[in-house]
Amino acid sequence: LQSVEKSFGRHKAVNNVNLRICQGEFISLLGPSGCGKTTLLRLIGGFERPDSGHILLDQQRINDWVPQKIPVNTVFQNYALFPHLSVFENLAFGLKAEGVSRAELRRRVLTMLQTVQLENLSDRRPEELSGGQQQRVALARALVKQPKILLLDEPLNALDARLRQQMQRELKQLQRTTGITFIFVTHDQDEALSLSDRVVVMRAGELVQVGSPEEIYARPKNEFVAQFVGAINWIHAKPDVTGSIRVGAFVSKVQKSVTPNCEGKVRIGVRPEHLRINVSKSSEGIDARVLSQQYKGMFIEVLLELCSGDVVCVSRFNDSAGHSMAYSVGAEVKVHWAPGT
Ligand code: ATP
Repeated sequence: LQSVEKSFGRHKAVNNVNLRICQGEFISLLGPSGCGKTTLLRLIGGFERPDSGHILLDQQRINDWVPQKIPVNTVFQNYALFPHLSVFENLAFGLKAEGVSRAELRRRVLTMLQTVQLENLSDRRPEELSGGQQQRVALARALVKQPKILLLDEPLNALDARLRQQMQRELKQLQRTTGITFIFVTHDQDEALSLSDRVVVMRAGELVQVGSPEEIYARPKNEFVAQFVGAINWIHAKPDVTGSIRVGAFVSKVQKSVTPNCEGKVRIGVRPEHLRINVSKSSEGIDARVLSQQYKGMFIEVLLELCSGDVVCVSRFNDSAGHSMAYSVGAEVKVHWAPGT
């Protein structure tokens, strides 16, 4: 995508987007509702035309191609299966339209049904299938045509949490075995991080950051990305001349130079899992008071008010079989960040 722009009336839905997607890549478009993810996907699929810029596929400019000519298939949120056709016929439909021979069609449909483990349900109609099975048919129908790119527009939204996790694993597996480029639209950050080779974070029609899941999470480019991808605490601190920052009586070295705001303060973003609580009053750390704690099974989340007035969340891995809820509400404790943070 080279300098791609698309407006609806006065509203710029996609603004100067430049992005190179590699063959065989699993890339996610992540961003809040209305940021232009679907529009970008529709531009790639040929369902919308860009106002300016170039969309190239294998060096060929496809801006003006009709969707049928572009070797790209789409899986939609609502599956859009043909209700009156069986599973087999749903898969066969597109191949028939392409004029694929009967024997070749049968071979390809049966192989694909095996890949998505639906070979025993090939005679059923969509209404006789569960949500997860319908989702698999939609994926298989798109993949059986062997597109160069599969566009997926929030395809797992209609599934409950457990099935969604299972389908995420299957989707990833399917992408590995087929080697087809997947462009996946989601507003679910966990999904984007766990599935993708690269994540594209979008905001108001623009690409804010493009990188591996780890880059996006561990080195967010700005406050928006830090906040949108994962939870983050903001702590107000004062920089001092020695290159340290100070929160109350707690002093810590910082690796980067910091520019204070007009009140002479800086804000530090720290992930909940990088904060530690120490109950010993003589230990190093920011003075804090426990506000509440929540049991989450694998994690304990503790909410604290720091002496700076900031309220922070500390998440602790629950690796003890017994005394997991260790802090009493109102307790005075110290908070510090993990070494290397
Ligand atoms: P969501 O996560 O809610 O699906 P999105 O990031 O996919 O959102 P888009 O559907 O791409 O966002 O929409 C981007 C912007 O363009 C929105 O403000 C939307 O209202 C607008 N828009 C999209 N399609 C049209 C259209 N056909 N006509 C007018 N405005 C449109």
